[in-house]
Amino acid sequence: MSGGGIALGRAAGVTDTGRQRLRNEDAFVCEPPLFAVADGMGGARAGEVAARLAATALEESSDEVRGPDGIAALITEANRRIWEQSLADPQMAGMGTTVTAALVDERTGTVAIGHVGDSRAYLVRDGALTQLTTDHSLVAELVESGLLTPAEAERHPQRSAITRALGTEPTVEVDALEVEGRPGDLFLLCSDGLPIMVGDAEVLAIVEGAGRAPAEAAEALVAAANARGGHDNVTVVLFELVAAASRGDAESSAMPGRPEPEIAAEAENELEPEPEPRAEPAPAPAQPVPAEPRRHGAGPGGRVAALAVIAGTLGLAALVLYWSIAR
Ligand code: CA
Repeated sequence: MSGGGIALGRAAGVTDTGRQRLRNEDAFVCEPPLFAVADGMGGARAGEVAARLAATALEESSDEVRGPDGIAALITEANRRIWEQSLADPQMAGMGTTVTAALVDERTGTVAIGHVGDSRAYLVRDGALTQLTTDHSLVAELVESGLLTPAEAERHPQRSAITRALGTEPTVEVDALEVEGRPGDLFLLCSDGLPIMVGDAEVLAIVEGAGRAPAEAAEALVAAANARGGHDNVTVVLFELVAAASRGDAESSAMPGRPEPEIAAEAENELEPEPEPRAEPAPAPAQPVPAEPRRHGAGPGGRVAALAVIAGTLGLAALVLYWSIAR
């Protein structure tokens, strides 16, 4: 319990539209001791609405909420709000979002994590990066059943298809777990825009390279995802645990650089109300995945046709030449 316990140190969150999407449908919560990322999906602006509803539901939680059961109840409430909104507004029908949330309890020295979808929670401890959540995704299920290797899953065209989402059904099954915190722990929450662009080993190297400072690491991780192509919105939230005795030091040094708690919603990408080509979300909403490189040149059939045209042209030229000489 409290003997040599933990306290919350610095924390930071960053979200970015990425390089290929026009809008950012991710949202995050960085309101110590509560942290979350949400990755919305749905036609028109429904994805943004769903993610924001989830973030707001979490932010409005009371200080009484504790532990895995508490965070699961929060996520269940968020599910109810999104579902009801989707029923009330036809434009929002079928909207959904992932959510991965973490709640630090300094009294018990634990971190409770609640999770639905393919956003992730990781723990950096003792120089290793451990994924704490299991993706609720098609490829994760195929890996689980031995039909895909993890490496194949990373390149799978359906890797963004999720099998569980918040707000698409009246009820939702929430994964909830609890981690015994240790001083020095660094927790990372992220939307899938990070892992689809940056591998685990590189994520760890970037975090270590940033001196395990949450704000610097968050910026560097988002920059790395964009440097790799930024195929999707990318959101990262990081928070560290420190020894309870050093809490005062950590807080006083952390406060100036700590960003104001906020629900992320980028305003910069209000370029135009483009008609979103995304189909009505199915039970497992598949986000557009960058297509594999394809050849656009002529196939064998095209080559034959081209040769025939060349041969015909040469034949015609010979005939014209013959006629002009013969006359
Ligand atoms: Ca995403």
